[in-house]
Amino acid sequence: MRCPFCGNIDTQVKDSRPAEDHVSIRRRRFCPACSGRFTTYERVQLRDLVVIKSNGRREDFDRDKLERSIRIAMQKRPVEPERIDQMISGLVRRLESMGETDIPSKQIGEIVMEALARIDTVAYVRFASVYKNFQAADDFDKFVSELRPPNATPADK
Ligand SMILES: [Zn+2]
Repeated sequence: MRCPFCGNIDTQVKDSRPAEDHVSIRRRRFCPACSGRFTTYERVQLRDLVVIKSNGRREDFDRDKLERSIRIAMQKRPVEPERIDQMISGLVRRLESMGETDIPSKQIGEIVMEALARIDTVAYVRFASVYKNFQAADDFDKFVSELRPPNATPADK
């Protein structure tokens, strides 16, 4: 498994254990080159999902990509890593059980935003700003005030 920090391909597994009620195996990995630590998950993939992009192109759904974008949005937010893991698993399960194997990328973005809004307002706004590609500051402020999720935690209000 390639180190996500330095690209070294020779990383070591430090610890393996069942996670999320035994639907996955969680592995703690260590990179001897940069001393980076990261976690990987091994899990059963129920269905192969295809993402239909806005330009009509199709590509295989990439859980890692989804996870990466969510982790970027969650950076330095006071949310337990386990909770983020659970959220991502829940999202993927939701996508897998939607009845369609072909899912528009727009729909995936909306499901992610919905889930983030319930967990952390700041992460939600970060994700949404990238997702919606807001460029003008005015638009962004407007967007935040309009789309502030009603069920955000009281601390965020
Ligand atoms: Zn490394």
